[in-house]
Amino acid sequence: MKNKINSRLIGLSVFSIIITALLLTIVYYTNFRQQVENDLSLTAHVLASNDFINEKTDLSSVKNDIRITWIDRDGSVLYDNDVDNTALDNHLNRQEVADAFKNGEGKCIRTSDTLNLSTYYYALKLNDGTVLRVAKDAQSITAIFLHTVPYTLGIIIVVAFVCLLISNLLTKQLVRPINDLADNLDSPNLSVPYKELVPITDKIRKQHADILSASQMRQEFTANVSHELKTPLTSILGYTELMESEGIDEKQKKHFITEIKNNVDRLLNLINDIMKVSQLSTNDINYEFTDLNLYEIAKDQLQNFEIEARSKNIKLILEGKSEIIKGNKGLIEELVDNLVQNAIRYGNENGYVKVNVGDINNKVSLCVEDNGIGIPLSEQERIFERFYRVDKSRSKKMGGTGLGLAIVKHIVQIHEAKINLKSTPGVGTKIEVIFQ
Ligand code: ADP
Repeated sequence: MKNKINSRLIGLSVFSIIITALLLTIVYYTNFRQQVENDLSLTAHVLASNDFINEKTDLSSVKNDIRITWIDRDGSVLYDNDVDNTALDNHLNRQEVADAFKNGEGKCIRTSDTLNLSTYYYALKLNDGTVLRVAKDAQSITAIFLHTVPYTLGIIIVVAFVCLLISNLLTKQLVRPINDLADNLDSPNLSVPYKELVPITDKIRKQHADILSASQMRQEFTANVSHELKTPLTSILGYTELMESEGIDEKQKKHFITEIKNNVDRLLNLINDIMKVSQLSTNDINYEFTDLNLYEIAKDQLQNFEIEARSKNIKLILEGKSEIIKGNKGLIEELVDNLVQNAIRYGNENGYVKVNVGDINNKVSLCVEDNGIGIPLSEQERIFERFYRVDKSRSKKMGGTGLGLAIVKHIVQIHEAKINLKSTPGVGTKIEVIFQ
């Protein structure tokens, strides 16, 4: 950044200095040329008005840096104070002379081969029809410009040095608040030094917070998983140790084996759900979406629960009509399965579980309702968290893993759907998923 500011500032200054030098040369040259031309014109008019010019005038006495040429009406040179007039060719083709014959006066600048000098000419037509021409050598525009080069270079060196100092100071001043900002990015009352940095700071802070909360969630999840796995494994270990002990009869042995089997089942369920929830929370899987008849899926899933429902004498009811949604078949089946499973699990004996597929405001909806134990209002938000259960022992007894609704939440997100929960303890629960 510092180098960039340095080079930009120096580049800008050098460019400005060169442009200024060029413009000043042009202004100076224009003035200078005007001055020379005025001088020449004045000299010519003075010579003409004093009637200096006649055959006998000795023009060699006139200021020696001014060349005076007297040209006859036919263009032949009558006199020249610098060169022998007989050696000079006809001057009618000289532009200033031709202009003077035509318009009364003429002027011209001719630059010599070396470019350093220009000759300024002024020609004036006299009363007798001859032309008096005065000329003077003076600096050309190139010479004037070249003359400024050493000064320009000197100025460039000084200014470049000043620029370096200024850019150092400027960079320090500019960068200090940004470094402070980077150091205090997490501070709640952070002030952003430049308003241009507000969007990027907001974005970084948001990403930072997201990363922190994701890592916290991962940590919590890992801790929960270890804890959840430990419980059935400890039980299994306990039962195997009991089986090893002496004096146990066949009946006890059978009981231990059944308990071991239950715990292994629990472990398998847990591992299954953990894998599902981990897979669903990674965003880089592209699920295949097809047209699905939600009503048919609900019907098939309900059939899978017939035996379980009968054991609690719960009535399974399917209502509604065929509705097509765009979705992933496996995930939608899993969603219906989890909601119906919970409705039966937390439903009362002799109760009912009602599944309705319909439409609400032109959007397809799936509603799973039970008249079971319900969920207290204070717990309703938390039940979608991983491993959160209202009544842990009841959930475990019923074979719950605490991950069912977390899985449901992910599936809803993947389908860009919405989920609503209405529940009253002792009355029942109604969970509604509305698809786009
Ligand atoms: P679990 O495996 O424990 O059922 P879930 O994530 O599916 O885990 O549900 C979380 C908790 O929400 C459950 O433990 C239960 O307390 C509560 N819950 C879910 N569905 C219902 C329901 N239909 N009626 C009452 N409570 C429910």
